[in-house]
Amino acid sequence: MRIGFDIDDTLINLREHAFHIYNKKLNTQIGLEIFRELKTVEIHEAFGLDKVQGGEMWKSLLEEIYFTDCPTFNGAVEFLNNLHQKGHEIFYITSRPKDYCQRTREWIINQGFPVKAEHFFCGMQDQEKIDIIKELNLDVYFDDKPAVLETLKNIPTKIFVKDQSYNQNVKLPRVTEWTTFTID
Ligand SMILES: [Mg+2]
Repeated sequence: MRIGFDIDDTLINLREHAFHIYNKKLNTQIGLEIFRELKTVEIHEAFGLDKVQGGEMWKSLLEEIYFTDCPTFNGAVEFLNNLHQKGHEIFYITSRPKDYCQRTREWIINQGFPVKAEHFFCGMQDQEKIDIIKELNLDVYFDDKPAVLETLKNIPTKIFVKDQSYNQNVKLPRVTEWTTFTID
């Protein structure tokens, strides 16, 4: 099969990693119980920041958020390697900004994910993911973000949502843990 994955918050725990960085930078100790209740992809609300302040904070810390020691979700690296070993084609489709694409690919390889250069797509807008998914004729695609999942409703690709606090209203089959997930 041809199987596609979003990266941030689908395969790696980026928001939680960023949450810790925000606490450090702002000298706060907002607990993870607050993080787990967030109903937005953005995390700034937990720190009392508005949308503009939150956007600036996120941008100013992108290097640190993307390229330090963000944990992968348990079982994600093993799950993808297992698919790869079984002969499935793995694709990555991330809307990270263009300037960060090359280093993101290197970072993902360094975490142990199986990556073919021509199977790594980066730097598109959220709403452009659908075009790539259609062009690639993916059999299966995984993402966490409601705004992206919303665009993928009427395509033949089987869509799974990576379970997160902010996507509970999305009515699609979900991946709760990569360690126990199987595609059938
Ligand atoms: Mg994502």
